[in-house]
Amino acid sequence: MMVGATMMTSTRCGTFIINQIHCTGVTGWLYSRIKSETFRKGLGMWLYMRERRLFDLFWSLHERMRAGTYSQNPVLRAVEIETINRCNNDCEFCPVNRHADTRAYAKMDQALFEKIINELDQMSYAGRLHFYSNNEPLLDVRIADWVEWAAGRLKKARLCLYTNGLLLTDAVFKRLASCLDELVIDNYSDTMELLPSIAALLKTHQNDHFKATPITVNIIDKHMLRTNRSGSAPNRTMAGKFHSPCVLPFVQMVIRPNGDVSMCCNDALGKYTLGNVRNESIQQVWHGDKYSQLRRITGKGRGRHEMCRHCDAFIAW
Ligand code: SF4
Repeated sequence: MMVGATMMTSTRCGTFIINQIHCTGVTGWLYSRIKSETFRKGLGMWLYMRERRLFDLFWSLHERMRAGTYSQNPVLRAVEIETINRCNNDCEFCPVNRHADTRAYAKMDQALFEKIINELDQMSYAGRLHFYSNNEPLLDVRIADWVEWAAGRLKKARLCLYTNGLLLTDAVFKRLASCLDELVIDNYSDTMELLPSIAALLKTHQNDHFKATPITVNIIDKHMLRTNRSGSAPNRTMAGKFHSPCVLPFVQMVIRPNGDVSMCCNDALGKYTLGNVRNESIQQVWHGDKYSQLRRITGKGRGRHEMCRHCDAFIAW
């Protein structure tokens, strides 16, 4: 059986989490000895799919036991704002890596960003606010200014930013770490090592204390298998069919640069739009017909939706 092994070491600056695919048993023995990269990938995919199918079964039982909890009470707990829809990295598992992204380039205008933050403020929003979605947020040179501005208004929300760290300068690091509640640096690597620039940054700040404590660095294999992003992950074209309910439409809102609201973070290319927060309020979209219809479907089982049925993300809230 294939499992994801995690190794953690702590420093005074943050936590380093190293993820890698690790196998045990006969299949693990095979996996560790096969030299052919193509065969390893095929075997890895098959193992991964098998694991996800078991998870689907477990998740169906789990969600049925809690039936009705979310359908009665959708509560916005996570908002993702994508201020620019690009990434500068080339991770094999990502549908929006810089070689795979098919979206038309778009950047959010300041008036729309301020409208979103002001509405969340009026709602006394106390959930997670992510300054990214399917993108690298530091490609937007305004992001530190905007995060600081939002932090001055949203006192109850948990402000989070994930970055691949490639553009993370010392000055931006200090500004973000001083006003965010969660800063995560995903250090994507071919060799499972810290990138020199990130290692230098961590060394410089090893004795500093910021608001975002701990600052997390994930060292991630660029070629690893992750969730299939509802069939759009470039290195996992094998499409399964899953049945368990999904809670994301009951708790999450993903906002694109033009204000479109996508069905969830796994709709990486924004194929399904549930409304637009430029023309409507966040509350109007959240309680609108399209969101309600999606919840009716995914609350009963993802197999009823043409995109969700291929999605192997099982997320608990
Ligand atoms: S099943 Fe997957 S694609 Fe569908 S709403 Fe849930 S996370 Fe998104």
